[in-house]
Amino acid sequence: FVTLTICTMGELLVEFLSRSPQQKFTQPGEFIGPFPSGAPAIFAAQTAKLSHRAIIFGCVGNDEFGRLNIERLRHEGVITDGIHIMENAVTGTAFVSYRSQQERDFVFNIPHSACGLFTAEHIEPGLLQQCSHIHIMGSSLFSFRMIDAMRKAISVIKAAGGTVSFDPNIRKEMLTIPEMAQALDYIIEYTDIFLPSESELPFFARHKNLSEKQIISDLLQSGVKHIAVKRGQRGASYYQQENGTMQELHFDGHKPKTIDPTGAGDCFGATFVTLFLSGFPAQKALQYANASGALAVMQQGPMEGISSLGDIENFLSHHP
Ligand code: ATP
Ligand code: MG
Repeated sequence: FVTLTICTMGELLVEFLSRSPQQKFTQPGEFIGPFPSGAPAIFAAQTAKLSHRAIIFGCVGNDEFGRLNIERLRHEGVITDGIHIMENAVTGTAFVSYRSQQERDFVFNIPHSACGLFTAEHIEPGLLQQCSHIHIMGSSLFSFRMIDAMRKAISVIKAAGGTVSFDPNIRKEMLTIPEMAQALDYIIEYTDIFLPSESELPFFARHKNLSEKQIISDLLQSGVKHIAVKRGQRGASYYQQENGTMQELHFDGHKPKTIDPTGAGDCFGATFVTLFLSGFPAQKALQYANASGALAVMQQGPMEGISSLGDIENFLSHHP
């Protein structure tokens, strides 16, 4: 299998988790953190953990939260040279409260934090040229400057024969950002590997009331080559068009002891994309990604649940 260099770009932040279930933001309560976080950062850490090269582009402030994030990413093997330290802004933060295992509320400080100051000028061309793949998180499309930087990176990577993956990672708290909805439509046009949650598929439908199959089939017709749909505890599915017919693969979810669902989608995505691009057949990449997502929910904290190939294979040998 080949060693890849995969980049991500976007928010770097620290996260604070509510300690008890049903804890609301409207009353005092205990939070644990700071945990290093940001969907692109979790993705990059998971790629590095699988022994491939991961580069992340973004900004932190000149503060302890920023240093915590960079040090942790470095510790996981991520190449952090693309992270800029801004003097005039603080590192992004997120507070998470768990209404239930499926429903979470967030308070984000992202567009107005150091991440919001990232521009295309911050991308070091020498670093970008090393990358054969870029992964985009919809949650990173929070400022016109970041979207512009992504357009530039996508065009450089595509022009060199590279590929693009895209996880919409839609958060209801962020949909009010006007740049975001428009950019979701733009990115999908360049997407080779699409990694939506099943609940996000209707955002990408041509019409209302289309079935999931129809939406997926339309996306494959329009040029997306591979689609892996995340179904939470019900597992994940993969779709591809071959000789005019749609191929489907599915793995049911494992039954892990769920401690914290945050980060499962990012670990799943990074494992699928990294292993698939490195030469794993889609079925095996999906099986390993499904295990990687299950392993992620067993740990508290967004980036704490990343897994090595050995961790995944060990898990699969006990959970066939
Ligand atoms: P998020 O809302 O955090 O962005 P997501 O929708 O991107 O999450 P999930 O579907 O929650 O991603 O998780 C990704 C994958 O991880 C699932 O498709 C599944 O393979 C695995 N997974 C997640 N949660 C569980 C669970 N509770 N039990 C078993 N497997 C899980
Ligand atoms: Mg997600």
